[in-house]
Amino acid sequence: MKFTIQNVLTVTDDAYATVDVQIVDGKIAAIGSNLDVIGTVIDGTHQMLLPGFINAHTHSSEMWQRGAIRPLPLELWLAALYEFSQLNLEKVYLSALGTAVETLLSGGTSVVDHLVLIPGQEFETIAAAIRAYREVGIRAFIAPLIQDESLTAGIPSGETQQNHEPYFRSTAATLEIIEAVVQQFHRPDEGVSILVAPTGIQLCSDALFTGCIELSDRYNLSRHSHLLETRAQEKLAQEKYGCSAVEHLKRIGYLSDRTSLAHCVWLSEADIDILAETQSTVVHNPLSNLRLGSGIAPILKYQQAGVNVTFGCDGASSNDSQDLLEAIKIGSILHNVTDLDYQQWITPRQAVEMASLGGAKGINFADKIGSLEVGKNADLVLYDLTHLSLLPRTDPIGLLVLGRPSNVVNSVWVNGKQIVADGRVTTINVDDLRQKIFHQSQWDTQRQSQTVAQLAAHYRSVMGLNQ
Ligand SMILES: [Zn+2]
Repeated sequence: MKFTIQNVLTVTDDAYATVDVQIVDGKIAAIGSNLDVIGTVIDGTHQMLLPGFINAHTHSSEMWQRGAIRPLPLELWLAALYEFSQLNLEKVYLSALGTAVETLLSGGTSVVDHLVLIPGQEFETIAAAIRAYREVGIRAFIAPLIQDESLTAGIPSGETQQNHEPYFRSTAATLEIIEAVVQQFHRPDEGVSILVAPTGIQLCSDALFTGCIELSDRYNLSRHSHLLETRAQEKLAQEKYGCSAVEHLKRIGYLSDRTSLAHCVWLSEADIDILAETQSTVVHNPLSNLRLGSGIAPILKYQQAGVNVTFGCDGASSNDSQDLLEAIKIGSILHNVTDLDYQQWITPRQAVEMASLGGAKGINFADKIGSLEVGKNADLVLYDLTHLSLLPRTDPIGLLVLGRPSNVVNSVWVNGKQIVADGRVTTINVDDLRQKIFHQSQWDTQRQSQTVAQLAAHYRSVMGLNQ
C-alpha cells in the first residue's frame, strides 16, 4: 500500500512546514516539496500531519464500568471495580474495540493495555483483546495485569495485624501463562507486542517481579507497572520493604530504559534521581489521579531531572473516558498551579512530543515510531484544521493541545495502512459496535458495594480519617 499526502502542514523545530509525505510498505519513504505522486493521493491542504500518540496506560475492560463508580480513593474504588466486573470474553473483545476506536479518534495510533484477566481464562482473555486490536489495526502493546497477592494486601496494615487470603493462582502458574502468551502472540513487527506487567508493589511479591524480569530479558519484552499511585502505597512500601518502592524496584532490577511506570505520584527527590539514572519512563495519568484523589504527580520535577514522561488515559472507569487529547491537555496545564516558575511549564509543542516520541521511548519503540522521519513506521494522524474547534487560524498545535478539539481526526495510518478516513474507522463497523455495547449493558444507578463497606473502616483508620 502506497500513499502520497500532498501539501500537508507538519511541525518543524520551532515553526511549521508544508510538504508532501510518501508512505511505502508501511514506512515513511520521503518528506519534501513536490514529491512524485505514488499510490493513493491524499489532499493534505488545510490539514496537519503528526506522529500518532501512544495511549501509554489503560485497562480496556474498565469501559464496562465507566460512569458507574462513585468518587472513592483508589483502594476502595478497586474494591467496587472488582465486585461488579462481570467480564466475559465477548465483553473483553468489545471493550478492546471501543478503546481502540476512541484512542484512534483522539490522535493515538498505539495503545498500552494493562489488561485485566478473567480468572481461569487468562490466555483466552488476551487472545480476545488481541483479536480486537488486530481487527481495528491499532498498534497494540498488551501488558497482562498480573498479581500474586489478594486485594486486601494492597492496603497498609498500620498498627493492626492483618492476615490476607492467599491469591488463588500461584506465582509460577502466572509466569507460565505469560510465557505461553509471549510465545503465541508477541509479534512486534506485526503490530502486537507483549509486555511483562505486574500490577504494582502493592499486590505483587518479589518472586513475581523477578520472574517478569527474567521473561523480559529472555524475550526482549518491555516492562510495565503501576508505581506509587497513592499515599497508601507509599506507606505500604515502607511497611513491606523498609524503604521506598522505587529503591526496592531498583534493588531487584525492575527499572530500565524499557520500563514504563504508570502514575508515579508519591516519589521523593531520591526516587526521582533513581528513575533518571535507570532511564525509566513515567506515564502521566492526570485524569485518573484527579478522579481518584490520588494526587498531582510532580511531572515538571521529573522533566527537570531528565526523566522521560508520556501520557495515558488509564482505564475508562477512573477517567471516565479514553480521550487522549483530553489527557494531554489536563496533563500539561495541571502543573501550572503547582510550580511557580512558568518557564518550566509544558508548552503545547512539548506536550505533543511527550505524547508521541515520549510514549515510544517508554515501550522501547523510539527507533520505529513516535516522530515524522523518513525510515520510521508510518503511524500517522491527519487533523482537519478547518474544523470549528480548531478555528480560527492561530497556532495549530496550540489549538490542538489547549483547545477542546472534537472530531478533528480526519485520517489515521498505522504501519502504513489507512484505518481512519474522513473521520471514520474503516476497518470495523463502529455502529455495530455501539449496538453491541448498548445491548450488553444496562442502566445501573443504585449500586451499593459490600466490599467497599467492609474495607472502609480499616482504610479510614490507617489513613487517619475520622470514623
Ligand atoms: Zn492503571
